[in-house]
Amino acid sequence: MDCSPTLKGPLYVRRSCALAVKPAATTIKRHMFSLVNKVAFVTGASRGIGKAIAMKLAAQGAFVVCAARGDHAKGTADEIVAAGGRADAMTLDVTDDGAVSKVPGQIIETHGRLDILVSNAGITRDQLLMRMKRDDWDAVIATDLTATFALAQAAIRPMLKQQGGRIIAIGSVVGEIGNAGQTNYAAAKAGLIGFAKALAREVASRGITVNVITPGMIDTDMTRAISGKAQTDWAALIPLGRLGTGDDIAAAACYLASDEAAYITGHVLAVNGGMNM
Ligand code: NDP
Repeated sequence: MDCSPTLKGPLYVRRSCALAVKPAATTIKRHMFSLVNKVAFVTGASRGIGKAIAMKLAAQGAFVVCAARGDHAKGTADEIVAAGGRADAMTLDVTDDGAVSKVPGQIIETHGRLDILVSNAGITRDQLLMRMKRDDWDAVIATDLTATFALAQAAIRPMLKQQGGRIIAIGSVVGEIGNAGQTNYAAAKAGLIGFAKALAREVASRGITVNVITPGMIDTDMTRAISGKAQTDWAALIPLGRLGTGDDIAAAACYLASDEAAYITGHVLAVNGGMNM
């Protein structure tokens, strides 16, 4: 049998042959990481990394509930809506356990579902351990660790019913390598990693993934508060030669939130310009 290609019109066509390759039945999926029809909740969405995450989740099609204290997250929600996205603002102090426990219920009532939780709100209260006040320890643990426990505990109920969900905690490179003057912050961020891995095992069979993003040095209010000398010292440790941006972290969050990341759980995704490899 002659299987040599023949020219037919402008196309190169292979003659009938048992070995002829059939055209693939699949179609090309043009929009990876689409979050259309997903409802996301982002804490600390008023500025910095949380705002960038909220904006990017919305750009991928998610309805984003943006939370912060007071009316601080309203600007982010307004910006999303002005850009053609879908968003609401919510007032939430993540250290208020009572308020946190009601959030998923409120979101389900208004939007019908909750697919993505991004626990991003965080603070620093830096001091050498010798001088650290108990209040500074407690405040950082409450905001940067315990709030994620409370939010995740409340969010997994609807996610279990939905048989799926994404929980993403924002940790820090400091939780992986430590940093003098940040024993409280390092403990909280390292705690998130253990928490996420344990929870990932508890809920994996129900299609819920739990992951941590560990940013390096990102250009936000938090790092602008560090003295110029400390900033330069840190920047010198970054192989990629620049501070990160909120968008760098937001891209990782979109990926972990997407259907394409369904097989990734209990993972720590470092987005740090190579600071810790
Ligand atoms: P910013 O200081 O710029 O923003 C902090 C956000 O957290 C604000 O939206 C703030 O909201 C919110 N927040 C703080 N406390 C509370 C609270 N009690 N209740 C509700 N919201 C609160 O920080 P970044 O954007 O830089 O940091 C975001 C996350 O990324 C944090 O978890 C941080 O630890 C982590 N991270 C940051 C790095 C960096 O280099 N910037 C590096 C590694 C990790 P409000 O408007 O109400 O104050």
